[in-house]
Amino acid sequence: MSIIVLDEATVSKIAAGEIIENPASIVKELIENSIDANSRNITVEVKGDIGNYIRVTDDGDGMTKEDLSVAFLRHSTSKLKTAEDLNNIVSLGFRGEALASISHISKVEVLTKTDTDLSGIRAEIENGNITKINNVGLPNGTTFFIYDVFYNTPVRKKYLKNNNTEFNYILEVVQKISLGNPNIAFKLIRDNKVVLNTTIENDIKNRIFSILGRDIATNLLNNSFESESYKINIYFSNNKLYRSNRFHQYIYINGRYVRNLDISRLIEKYYYSLIPLNRYPVFLLFLEIDPILVDVNIHPKKHEVKLSKDNNVMAIIGETIEEILFPNRKIIDPISNT
Ligand code: ADP
Ligand code: MG
Repeated sequence: MSIIVLDEATVSKIAAGEIIENPASIVKELIENSIDANSRNITVEVKGDIGNYIRVTDDGDGMTKEDLSVAFLRHSTSKLKTAEDLNNIVSLGFRGEALASISHISKVEVLTKTDTDLSGIRAEIENGNITKINNVGLPNGTTFFIYDVFYNTPVRKKYLKNNNTEFNYILEVVQKISLGNPNIAFKLIRDNKVVLNTTIENDIKNRIFSILGRDIATNLLNNSFESESYKINIYFSNNKLYRSNRFHQYIYINGRYVRNLDISRLIEKYYYSLIPLNRYPVFLLFLEIDPILVDVNIHPKKHEVKLSKDNNVMAIIGETIEEILFPNRKIIDPISNT
C-alpha cells in the first residue's frame, strides 16, 4: 500500500461534490449570494438540457476587480473575518466555498459592476482561476452564467435525473427562497417561458398566495409572538388543509430555509385530533432569533440548524399555535377556580 496526498485540484473536486449535488444546488448558492449582496430583483434562467445553461442575474452590490480576483478561491468570503464571527452569522453564505466549487465542476462567466465603479467587468473562470477578464459597460449588479455542469465529472453527470425532474428541483429552490424573502422580486424562466414571477411584497400573505396558490393561502391561520431575543410568525393549517407528506412545511430561521424534524413533530402533535391519520399540516414558520442561539455550521449545505436548548422557543412555538387552534382549551386559572 502507498499513501499519497491528493493534489489541490482533486481535493477541490471532492469538496465541490459535497456542496453541488445537482444544478439546483448551483441555483441555490447563487441566489443566496445575490440575497447577501442586498439585491431587490433576482432572475434565474435555464435553457435546454438542465445544467447546460444557467443564468442568475441580480441588481445587488456587485464586485470590484479585487473582489473578483479572490471570489473563486476556496475559503474566500467577504462575510466572515474571524472565527468569532461564526457565532454571529447573519448572512446566508459564510463558508466561501460555493463559487470555488461551482467553478471546479462547470464553466463560469460573470458580469459584475458596483455602484462606485465606472465600468463593469466580464470574466471567465475555470477550476478556480480567471482565464479571461475585461471591462464592459453594465448596469449595477451581478450576472452569473454557468455552462456544462459536471462536464469534467462524468459519473456525476450520469446520475442527473431527467430534465423535468432537475428543473423541478430548481423550481422548488426558487419557491422556498422566495417564500422566505417577500421583499425581493424573483423570476424564473425556462426556455424563454416565465415559470414564476413575483413582485416585491411587504406582506408575506401575498407571497404565499402567489407561490402556493389560493387553496393553501386561504386555509392558513396566523399568529405571532415577540420577545426580546426572538420573534415568531407562523402560518398554519386550519382543520381543512392537510397533505400526505411534509413537503409544504416551511421553516425559516433568520431568513434561511431549514429542515428541522423536531419543529415539524411538535407542530403536528396539535393536529392529531383535527386531521386524518397519516396526514400532515401545512405550515410556514418564520423565526427571527439572536444568531448566538442558532448553530448553522453543522452541515456543508446549511440545510439543518441546531437551536440552542437554553431558551423556550419550542414551547412558545407550540403555544403560539395552540392559542388559535384551541382557543377554548385555555387557561384554567387556579385562583378563580376555587
Ligand atoms: P460565501 O457566500 O460563503 O461568502 P461564495 O463562494 O458563495 O462564498 O462567494 C464568495 C464571495 O463572492 C462572497 O463572499 C461575495 O463577496 C462575493 N459574491 C458572490 N456572489 C456575489 C453577488 N451576486 N454579488 C456580489 N458579491 C458576490
Ligand atoms: Mg455563497
